[in-house]
Amino acid sequence: MQEWKPKTELGAKVNAGQITDIAEIFTAGLKIRESWIVDKLLPDLKSEIIFFGGSPGKGGGITRTSTRRTARMHRSGRRYRISALVAIGSPGYIGLGKSSAKEHSVAINKAMEAAKLNIIPIKMGCGSWECVCGKGHSVPAKTVGKSGSVVISLLPAPRGIGLCIADEGKKMMRLAGIQDIWTKTEGQSQTRYNYVWAVYDAFRSLNSVKIDFPEPKSIVKAEEVPKKAEKDETAELEAAEAAESATEVEAKEEADQTKEKNKAIARPELEGGVEVEG
Ligand SMILES: [Zn+2]
Repeated sequence: MQEWKPKTELGAKVNAGQITDIAEIFTAGLKIRESWIVDKLLPDLKSEIIFFGGSPGKGGGITRTSTRRTARMHRSGRRYRISALVAIGSPGYIGLGKSSAKEHSVAINKAMEAAKLNIIPIKMGCGSWECVCGKGHSVPAKTVGKSGSVVISLLPAPRGIGLCIADEGKKMMRLAGIQDIWTKTEGQSQTRYNYVWAVYDAFRSLNSVKIDFPEPKSIVKAEEVPKKAEKDETAELEAAEAAESATEVEAKEEADQTKEKNKAIARPELEGGVEVEG
């Protein structure tokens, strides 16, 4: 193993073994600024190169390539630059990074490092009505992501459906450990760059949504407990009184409603009479 010199406070904690689970970093809301932290805490990290480059072929269409080559003009010819887009992931986590360099391998390595710094946790679940297994094989709820003109919706799917998503999206789902998904895409989805960033954005927006997590109970000091109990009793009495009055009101309402229904039943005949006259 290569030895690392931690440059940040977080890095020092990880190196000292004070943080052993990457989830602790996310719950604390800390930002990872050193890519080796991700390598250390997620040893089964996998990576995929997103094929976002391409060159027009003879028979029409585009041949997808792993990197995008761009050229700028120089007085002595073209100067090329290679950019790469790499996704990394481990079940429950996904990262995406882009970088450019003069060479393929350098661009890919730099993109991979960038992806590690962009790693986010993914909320997994079984949000489909057709499946009640309750295991994390899909997303817990519908989520929408955007990048450029591409708008992608990820929808929970029941077990066994598989990944109903374009190839580059499939790579991301496999990295993230999601087995079943339905998707809906709008915009120029053939722009792979925006497409995968939209998928990433959808996962990120899922993290800002609160889903079925029980609220932590507030800590009550021992001295305050009896006072609270008294308050609760009075509150209960008040609540009971309110409930009684509420039932009275409801009863009145019901009576009113039945009256109205009777009126409604009586009305058609009257209206019919009017129509005949007209
Ligand atoms: Zn399920």
